[in-house]
Amino acid sequence: MARQTGAACKLCRREGEKLFLKGARCTTDKCGLARRSFAPGQHGQKRKKISGYGLQLREKQKAKRIYGVLEKQFRHYFHMAERSKGITGEVLLQLLERRLDNVIFRLTFATSRRSARQIVRHGFVLVNKKRVDIPSYLIKEDDSIEIKAKEKLKKKVVENIEVAKERGVPVWIEADSAHLKGRIKRLPVKADVGDVIQESLIVELYSK
Ligand code: SF4
Repeated sequence: MARQTGAACKLCRREGEKLFLKGARCTTDKCGLARRSFAPGQHGQKRKKISGYGLQLREKQKAKRIYGVLEKQFRHYFHMAERSKGITGEVLLQLLERRLDNVIFRLTFATSRRSARQIVRHGFVLVNKKRVDIPSYLIKEDDSIEIKAKEKLKKKVVENIEVAKERGVPVWIEADSAHLKGRIKRLPVKADVGDVIQESLIVELYSK
């Protein structure tokens, strides 16, 4: 019987790269992308023609899905980016990356952003030695991040680091995995995020 992979894996297959949306499963041979690199179904290998608007909408949905952000907050990030001095699309990406739940995920302390969010929500994260339990908290340059929890959770985080080592920690974050700590060396830029999201399509969508 064919194994079910779900919408998250379909998104990876459509993008042709691992988006790590399903936690520990993503680094095993159960990864939907490893098993099949084209969309499911009889016509899965045919490319559907999508209109310009469809592409823009799809890109926004993808970004929301990757970072686990709802429409209202996503729009709020867009307006913040629009008001900033930088390039709107690039600032939008930076804001998404600066979320504390994303930073915990990037540090490989969690196997998915969803579980990173839980770690933050439960109050196990210190930023500059102070407890922060807001997943959308925006980190700044030189902030220090630390996991402060009982041994059981610390053990789980150590396991997560091992499971997620394939992903690696991005260059803008300094990781001290042995002590479950990290430091923001500098704010992320577009090049750190790569091409997984075409932010210009999202800007076009909201600028209509
Ligand atoms: Fe699915 Fe693999 Fe993508 Fe994870 S990385 S969501 S398992 S296809």
